[in-house]
Amino acid sequence: MSKYLSPRFDSLDAYTPGEQPRDQKYIKLNTNECPYPPSSKVIEAIDKEKNLLNLYPDPTAKCLKTAIADNLGLNADNIFVANGSDEVLALSFMAFCDKDTGVAYPDISYGFYSVYADLFTLDSKVIPLKDDFSVCPNDYFNLGRTIFIANPNAPTGLCLSLYDIENILINNKNNIVVIDEAYVDFGGESTVKLLDRYENLLVVRTFSKSRNLAGGRVGFALGSKELIADLELMKFSFNPYNINRLSLVSATEAMKDTVYFDDCVSKIKDTRTFLVNELEGLGFNVIPSCANFIFAKKDGISGEELYLKLKNNGILIRHFNKDRISDYIRITIGTKDEIISLIDTIKTIIDEVK
Ligand SMILES: *Cc1c(COP(=O)(O)O)cnc(C)c1O
Repeated sequence: MSKYLSPRFDSLDAYTPGEQPRDQKYIKLNTNECPYPPSSKVIEAIDKEKNLLNLYPDPTAKCLKTAIADNLGLNADNIFVANGSDEVLALSFMAFCDKDTGVAYPDISYGFYSVYADLFTLDSKVIPLKDDFSVCPNDYFNLGRTIFIANPNAPTGLCLSLYDIENILINNKNNIVVIDEAYVDFGGESTVKLLDRYENLLVVRTFSKSRNLAGGRVGFALGSKELIADLELMKFSFNPYNINRLSLVSATEAMKDTVYFDDCVSKIKDTRTFLVNELEGLGFNVIPSCANFIFAKKDGISGEELYLKLKNNGILIRHFNKDRISDYIRITIGTKDEIISLIDTIKTIIDEVK
């Protein structure tokens, strides 16, 4: 670090992304991407659009907002779009938190919440999940803070009921509750249907997990038109052209191609059921997942050992060296063939350890 870095960042601990190897050597089950390529309609749209890269993209992202609005039965002014849901989250921290209004989030959840809290020098209340890793709704009542909850949660895959979320909303009338629905398409119920009743609800979604576009970097938020206007104010004060032309047309076409989307999501859910059954058969304890990953552990072999041995065998999964979850591994649902290879490799590893 240089001597010029502002001292307020002295103890800033940046987010650690999962490994992104450039070669094709690994079966990649570590960062919850979709294992299938983008829809052919996306590829065609990119092909046309690339000749226009000399021109700035549409800063209002009208086409994309309209496609999302049509898909969800909302209006375009209920929709905010940004460069990945990470940017949506960052702009939400900017807009809805300050030195008087800190943040609250679970101790085991998406790693970026604590990073953004530190980046924006906010006071954080970190609320432990229950022993079974579930969120206790009452812990979030009337905290006077902006609340961030991933539903389904990561890396556990567990989800909260709409009833529980509604209670959190009712008991935080003066604060924003951000529900991060990165994985909602794989299970769980969306809070979108609560939007017209709760003006303090902001729903955050992404094209990275269920819409085959992690590399395109597009995320979005859904909320009242006033909340969306607040986020637009942040964006136009920070980076008005935050989504590039190729990503704009990609996300627009991905949202319209509901047939391809349904097909990919349903294959992933089927493969998830297959993986859970296989792992349970091998004596793993698997947490019920509403997401495109599973979180599991096995007595007698540590999460780290499994991670390292799988990596030596060309399979990348995720292990978090963190209190309460270091025994666990997180496995992204890949294609059926990838998951069959994974199971075979895990069987060999377990036999060796015995
Ligand atoms: C992956 C993920 C994100 C970030 O998604 P991008 O749109 O790729 O930035 C946000 N929240 C959760 C819970 C995630 O798992």
